[in-house]
Amino acid sequence: MVARKRRILLPMGDATSGGMVVNTPGKGLNMKLVIVGGVAGGASAAARARRLSETAEILIVERGPDVSFANCGLPYYVGGTIADRQKLLVATPEFLRKRFRLDVRTRSEVRSIDREQHTVTIADLEEQREYTVPYDKLILAPGAAAIRPPLPGLDLPGIHVLRNLQDMDRIKGNLQEGVHQAVVVGAGFIGLELVENLLELGVETTLVELQNQILPPLDRELTSPLLQELRRRGVKVILGDAVSAFESSPDGLSVQLKSGGSLPAQMAILGIGVRPESQLAVAAGLSVGPRGGIQVDEFLRTSDSDIFAVGDAIETREVVFGQPTQVPLAGPANRQGRIAAENALGGEQKFRGVQCTAILGCCGITAAVTGMGEKLLQQRGVDYRTVTIHPQHHAGYYPGAEQMTLKALFEPQSGRLLGAQGTGGAGVDKRIDVLAVAIQAGMTIYDLEQMELAYAPQFGSAKDPVNMLGFVAAGLLCGDHPQIRARELSEYLSANQSVVLDVRTPSEFDQAHVPNAINIPVDELRDRLSELSRGTSFVTYCQVGMRGYLATRILLQAGFDVRNLSGGFRSWQQYTYQEST
Ligand code: FAD
Repeated sequence: MVARKRRILLPMGDATSGGMVVNTPGKGLNMKLVIVGGVAGGASAAARARRLSETAEILIVERGPDVSFANCGLPYYVGGTIADRQKLLVATPEFLRKRFRLDVRTRSEVRSIDREQHTVTIADLEEQREYTVPYDKLILAPGAAAIRPPLPGLDLPGIHVLRNLQDMDRIKGNLQEGVHQAVVVGAGFIGLELVENLLELGVETTLVELQNQILPPLDRELTSPLLQELRRRGVKVILGDAVSAFESSPDGLSVQLKSGGSLPAQMAILGIGVRPESQLAVAAGLSVGPRGGIQVDEFLRTSDSDIFAVGDAIETREVVFGQPTQVPLAGPANRQGRIAAENALGGEQKFRGVQCTAILGCCGITAAVTGMGEKLLQQRGVDYRTVTIHPQHHAGYYPGAEQMTLKALFEPQSGRLLGAQGTGGAGVDKRIDVLAVAIQAGMTIYDLEQMELAYAPQFGSAKDPVNMLGFVAAGLLCGDHPQIRARELSEYLSANQSVVLDVRTPSEFDQAHVPNAINIPVDELRDRLSELSRGTSFVTYCQVGMRGYLATRILLQAGFDVRNLSGGFRSWQQYTYQEST
C-alpha cells in the first residue's frame, strides 16, 4: 500500500487569515487555478480544490452547456428508466457557484495554452469572442470524444453517438419520430446499454461488432450467457463484421456491412470507443502517448509541472504490471480529479493507477471485469493460469440463489492475482469488487482462500465464491487438483488424446454431454476403477466442477493420470456456444 501523507485541515478562518493548511502551497493563497472541462474529472477537481483552499481563484471552463452531468445515466434516459432529465444534472453551474464559490463558464472553450505566459485563451461560444486568463496551475479534464470513423453517409440523419446530454436529446427526439429498427455499432459497455434500452422501447435492434465476441474486455467464453440472452430477446447479433457505409433508403437508412449485407434501420448509434481530447495539450507541446493520451506522472503532472491532467484524456499506468494504458471510466476520472486538485495546491498524493474495473447490467445479466484479461496477457507474453467456477450467489438452501460464473487469472509461480471476471445474476458485483481490491493490494490466490467475508444464508456462503476461487486455483498450483480448460479439452478431443469421464448422474449425462465421454457417476467410481485402463490419461467433468474434482482426487490417489475440466460442463457449454456461432 502506498503510504499517504497525513493531511491536517485547519479551520477555514485559519486558512483565510494566512494560517498554513498542509497541502496548500506557499502560493496556494490566492492561487489561480484553471480547470478545462467541467464534468467528471474537472468538477471533482474543482470541488476538491475549494475544500482545500478557500482563497484559491478556481475557474472551470466547459465547452458544453452543462457541468457535472451523469454521462453514465444517459442510456437510461433514452430507454425511459430515468424519466426526469433534471436528475442527470448532478450539479448545475449555479449550484457550483453558490456552494463552492467556483467561477463556472459554460459554452466556453479553451482554445490554447501559453505555457510561458501562464495563460489560456478562452472562446466564449455564445458571444463569439476570445479572451485570455492567467493561471498559476492548470488542470486538464477535457475527456474523450466518441470515435466517428470516416464512413460514407456518416452525416445522414438518424446516425448518432452518445457522449453528452445533447447527443442524448437528439437520440430521444429521433426515437419519438417513430424508430422501429435500430442498429447499434459496437458491443462494448455503452453499445450494450443502448441495446437494452432500445429493447425496452420495443425497437427491433441489431448489434454489429467487429470482434468475434461481444463485450471485448471480457474473455470470450464469459460473454456466452449475455450473448445467448440477447439472442433470446430477439436481438440480431452480428459478430466479426463492420459497418462500411450508411445510405438513405425509403424507410430511413440502409446500413451497409463489410461482409456485403445491409440492414434496414431508421436509426444507427455508434458505440465503437473514444479517443482522448488531447489536441489542446498537443498544441501546447505537452507529451502524449501513442494512442493520444496526455502523459502524466504518478502525481498526475503532465510534462509541464504547472499543468495536471485527469480522466479520459490521459495515459496513465495500470496497477498489475505498471504499463501505460488509457481507461475511459468514471471512477478513475473522479479519483484523479481529487488528486490533481490536491497536488495543484502543493500536495504530493500519488495516483496508484487503474485496473479497468468495469461492470455492465444488460437484459438481466451482470458482467464485470477487473485487471487483466487473457487477450492482454497473451499480447504481453505473460505466463498465466486460469480457473473458472460457477457458484451460487448465496447458500443454495436459501430461496432465490442465483448462479454466476467467476474466473480468475493468476501467475503460476507466485499465485498473484492478475485479473478476474464474472457473469451471472445477483452477487457478481460484490465478488468483482472484492477481487478488484485483492488485485490492487497485490494479493495472491492463496489470500483469496483466507479472506473472511460477511456471511449469512441470504448474502453468501460460508465458503464464499471468492474463497472457492482461491481453493480451486490453489489446488491447481499445488497439484492437488490438476485441471484442463474447455478450449484445451476441445483440442484434446480432436487429437483423441484423453478418455473423457462424465461423473454426473446418468440422467444428466443423457441430457447432454461432451462428445465421446463415458459416464461413471462419482458415487460409483471407487467400485468401478477396474473399468478404466491405466496408461491412459483421463479428463473428468461434472456439471460445474465439484464432483469432477472429487473424481479427480479418487483417480489421482489410485494412480491414474487425470485432470478435471475447469468449471465442468457449464464451462464447456459456454465455450462451445461461442465456437458454434
Ligand atoms: P468528461 O466527463 O467527458 O468531461 C470532459 C468535458 O470537457 C466535456 O464536457 C467537454 O465538453 C469538456 N471539454 C473538452 N475540451 C474542452 C475545452 N477545450 N474547453 C472546455 N471544455 C472542454 N464510466 C463508468 O465508469 N461507468 C459507466 O457506467 C459509464 N457509463 C457511461 C455511459 C456513457 C453514455 C458515456 C458517454 C460514458 C460512460 N462512462 C462510464 C465513462 C465516463 O462517463 C467517463 O469516463 C468520464 O465522464 C470521464 O470524465 P472526464 O472528466 O475525463 O471527461
